[in-house]
Amino acid sequence: MASPIGHLLGAIAVYTAFSKRDDKTVPSGKLGYILPALIGILPDLDVVAYVLFGFAYGPIHRGVSHSLLMGIIFALFISLFFIKNGFRYFLKTWIILSICSLIHPLLDYLMGCGSKVPFFWPFDSQGYISPVQLIPTAYYSTSFSGLLEVVVMPETWKGIFLETISILPLIVANTRTDKIRYLMICISLIGFIVTYVLYN
Ligand SMILES: [Zn+2]
Repeated sequence: MASPIGHLLGAIAVYTAFSKRDDKTVPSGKLGYILPALIGILPDLDVVAYVLFGFAYGPIHRGVSHSLLMGIIFALFISLFFIKNGFRYFLKTWIILSICSLIHPLLDYLMGCGSKVPFFWPFDSQGYISPVQLIPTAYYSTSFSGLLEVVVMPETWKGIFLETISILPLIVANTRTDKIRYLMICISLIGFIVTYVLYN
């Protein structure tokens, strides 16, 4: 998996691209960050389920929770909390969060290593993985002690740094209309290029 930081930043970047800052037709303000962050990390519930309960359906990571269908279902569950705001509000929230949910499997795919991503489950159980690596290798463990070790590994923080340089500027760019926007897009591109050079 990309790191949880990379996943939540990626989903927030998509949300901010599809909703204006003070958009009243979808959840905005703090919720405009919290909801996509949540949808960005939900697919890794498969790892959490294994660590906490020893439960696995398919692979421990990149199981069916990484499929596009499950992303849409996760988005539906979250959006249902907003149905009291009207059907249009609910529907728009569901559509944008569904698009955000694509980011987690996409980032895992772009890591180019580890188990394959079952994008089209249950229609196609085949997994896919990118031939080039544009997202730093992130590590996980199936035990608490192992997870603690992963957290203190320098390699983990190198990956988080590169993900932040690649994705955070896109969030800033989405909120700007001036020259800063282009500067941010350039910094993001540099982040992806450095990652490509270091990991391929
Ligand atoms: Zn994942």
